[in-house]
Amino acid sequence: MSNIEALARANVRALTPYQSARRLGGNGDVWLNANEYPLAVPFDLSQQTLNRYPECQPKALIARYAAYAGLSTEQVLVSRGADEGIELLIRAFCEPGKDAVLFCPPTYGMYSVSAETFGVEYRTVNARENWQLNLDAIAEKLDGVKVIYVCSPNNPTGNLVSRDDLRQLLEMTRDKALVVADEAYIEFCPDATLTGWLAEYPHLVVLRTLSKAFALAGLRCGFTLASAEVIALLMKVIAPYPLSTPVADIATQALSEQGLTLMKQHVSEIIATREWLVDALRQCACVETVFPSQTNYLLVRFTAASEVFKSLWDRGIILRDQNKQQGLSGCLRISVGTREESERLIAALKTLPGTSVSMEQA
Ligand code: PMP
Repeated sequence: MSNIEALARANVRALTPYQSARRLGGNGDVWLNANEYPLAVPFDLSQQTLNRYPECQPKALIARYAAYAGLSTEQVLVSRGADEGIELLIRAFCEPGKDAVLFCPPTYGMYSVSAETFGVEYRTVNARENWQLNLDAIAEKLDGVKVIYVCSPNNPTGNLVSRDDLRQLLEMTRDKALVVADEAYIEFCPDATLTGWLAEYPHLVVLRTLSKAFALAGLRCGFTLASAEVIALLMKVIAPYPLSTPVADIATQALSEQGLTLMKQHVSEIIATREWLVDALRQCACVETVFPSQTNYLLVRFTAASEVFKSLWDRGIILRDQNKQQGLSGCLRISVGTREESERLIAALKTLPGTSVSMEQA
């Protein structure tokens, strides 16, 4: 170890950084590994004031998101992606070495990475076999927990978490911990949002993003929705200029009436392609189970997942391996791309055999 490495905090030396789709690389031309929208939406910049610092919380953008979410402007915070929202909650609410966060694997990987980065303990309570919350086990592990992340619809399983269970969780945690509903994929099942409960539960927080249905993953823009009290605390720890002027400019356009209409059209197209893909996948010999999804991706169990992953990778079709996640052996996650990309995927899968040659499932 060099001297420089020895200077770093112990938890940073021990940290395995988040393996984002981009970091994992690949030489593909069909990218189905990051749950992005498959086509770029063009925008023009309307603000040319780059000599000036941007507003910390651009008023026009906040007003549009509040209107879109049916909330007041004090209930909305904008940040560099939902990932920054995950982190701000830890920074504002968790004392390193004392408090903990909790989440329920299999789920999104950044909750643990953010906790580790700040030296905050993370506790896990595995989801039940049907990927719903194990409320009894959560109740037993709440001591010292300040933030509970519940991803619904969940990445990578694609299911919604039961509303009754979420209500019970909110009752159980009143005055003790925040319950953070990660709604990164909510535009694909908008009726399931919990924003309507914010008035009732001051400890409920909802995370949103423009990275998925809005087709703006490269923009890096997300939102935290919560009681004015929670937002005010997050405002204490956010960077002075979290969004650049072009980001705020484009995000404001994406939330215009026209932008929202376009987003909804994209969502309908993706859902139609997803349904086509579910049927087509079920007819492939190498596919064991296609799990139902409320999102723009499908979790699929294959008879020989590693071979399928590698064989598609070699053909330039890049999926996301979920084989190592709790309860997901043999599973790959497939983002729903264009109809053409989906057809290429199916054509490639049709050439693969139905059983493993190397018995790598064990
Ligand atoms: N939550 C979930 C469940 C996600 O899948 C993602 C994106 N991978 C995020 C949050 C982060 O979104 P953003 O791009 O806005 O940082």
